[in-house]
Amino acid sequence: MKVADIETGHGALDANALHALEQRLHGALIRPGDEGYDATRRVYNAQHDRRPALIVQAADVADVMAGVTFAGEHDLPLAVRGGGHSVPGFGTCDDGLVLSLEHMRGIRVDPEHRRVRAEGGCTWADLNHATAAFGLATTGGIVSSTGIAGLTLGGGLGHLARRCGLTCDNLVAADLVTVEGRFLTCSEGHHEDLFWAIRGGGGNFGVVTSFEYRLHEVADILGGPTFYPLEAGVLQAYRELIAEAPEALGAILGITLAPPLPFVPEGWHGRPVVVVLTCWSGPADEDEAIRERLGRLGPVLGQSVQRMPYPVINTLFDELLPAGLHHYWKGCFSRELTDAAIAVHLDFGARIPCPQTATLLFPIDGACRRVAAEATAFAYREATFATALGPSWPDARDGEANIAWGRAYYQALRPHSQEGGYVNFMSADDADRVSANYRQNHDRLVELKSRFDPTNLFRLNQNIAPTQAPGA
Ligand SMILES: Cc1cc2nc3c(=O)[nH]c(=O)nc-3n(C[C@H](O)[C@H](O)[C@H](O)COP(=O)(O)OP(=O)(O)OC[C@H]3O[C@@H](n4cnc5c(N)ncnc54)[C@H](O)[C@@H]3O)c2cc1C
Repeated sequence: MKVADIETGHGALDANALHALEQRLHGALIRPGDEGYDATRRVYNAQHDRRPALIVQAADVADVMAGVTFAGEHDLPLAVRGGGHSVPGFGTCDDGLVLSLEHMRGIRVDPEHRRVRAEGGCTWADLNHATAAFGLATTGGIVSSTGIAGLTLGGGLGHLARRCGLTCDNLVAADLVTVEGRFLTCSEGHHEDLFWAIRGGGGNFGVVTSFEYRLHEVADILGGPTFYPLEAGVLQAYRELIAEAPEALGAILGITLAPPLPFVPEGWHGRPVVVVLTCWSGPADEDEAIRERLGRLGPVLGQSVQRMPYPVINTLFDELLPAGLHHYWKGCFSRELTDAAIAVHLDFGARIPCPQTATLLFPIDGACRRVAAEATAFAYREATFATALGPSWPDARDGEANIAWGRAYYQALRPHSQEGGYVNFMSADDADRVSANYRQNHDRLVELKSRFDPTNLFRLNQNIAPTQAPGA
């Protein structure tokens, strides 16, 4: 089919060039006005209503190579999309090319060697489902629709982090398409610099077409939420729990408004509470001890902790957080949950603007700490918590109040936090925090970025600017 020229903010795209691109693709090339354009341009965060000039819906590695080459040759902004969950909306753009891997979702589990190879468009629902069939899992996101790609490349936190490390610590190899449209595989021993950089450095270095992860024996777990009043004593007891609990206990803390669940007393619905989301992947004969330990964190308002297949624990928030909400998040690391930080959490927790909004403390001690701070790009190996301040709201008109709350909360927490934060919990206005987020690893990342992406084609991310690139 002959296609027409397309006007973009970056000049006209010639019909012949578009035709040649279309000929190279096995997947779809979607333009404004095409059926499916509106559905395909949409990303998870409704804050980002962007209109790309082209969407390449890649079917395979060859399509990814074609998309990257085309964007580079035509000087188009390039948005690479895995699961589309980026809170700053990095999976889309105005007037540029969106390279979407959403149809690249092949998975191969190797139970004998406890490995899984998954394509870059997979979600955690895809991956958990495939590996659970063999009683295996790796650390992944706690909402099942989140993409494996963006999450892994930023580091990757989840219920299994204390026991199994960050998601990127379980990455054993990755296939990647470079800025020149070249394909390579990186691992320990193969393109080691790139392998180092993509374990925390985000999408700055190329398009990962597939990830190979190490898997762990994880079958049924004891999991679910326990709700407590929002009180200093509960947060202090949680701090002690993390300091002493076995690494097989995942216990993410949330501060939120109590949802109208049947096991939460009606009088508490909509009131600020603490929730501890447990994922015990240790022996079942210790379940009672875990329950008893949870009971000692404070007065239990309601609890639904039970044995369940591991993938299920990662779907518990899915209904609360469907695609199409608005989000503006902030992130910070902390070594300790100090009494001063607790006072800030109590203050802002009491004024949570929306039921979908939550502050989450992800414990990243245990196995995450056993990786040296310079061994991967993820820099904060001595931190105990990665905190997400997560305003999320359904009605666009509530944006101002939610964003103001998130910003003020972050400013109040800053004196009680480390300088940097987890890149995947940052918003678009956090570009000035990139060097703090990578700290001692930042210089090496800049050097590698300058080598592997000197023109900064891969810049729609928490951008590590190359030296001497336009805009650097
Ligand atoms: C509801 C929700 C829950 C979350 N829960 C967790 C959690 O439990 N743990 C956690 O660690 N984080 C969590 N996050 C943060 C999450 O890690 C980031 O939003 C992450 O970027 C999502 O990855 P994605 O592939 O879905 O996003 P996308 O929007 O597709 O991409 C995000 C970034 O990665 C780049 N990218 C995407 N695919 C590729 C690829 N194949 N190759 C190279 N670069 C690529 C993009 O260019 C972009 O910069 C959550 C986010 C949300 C919205």
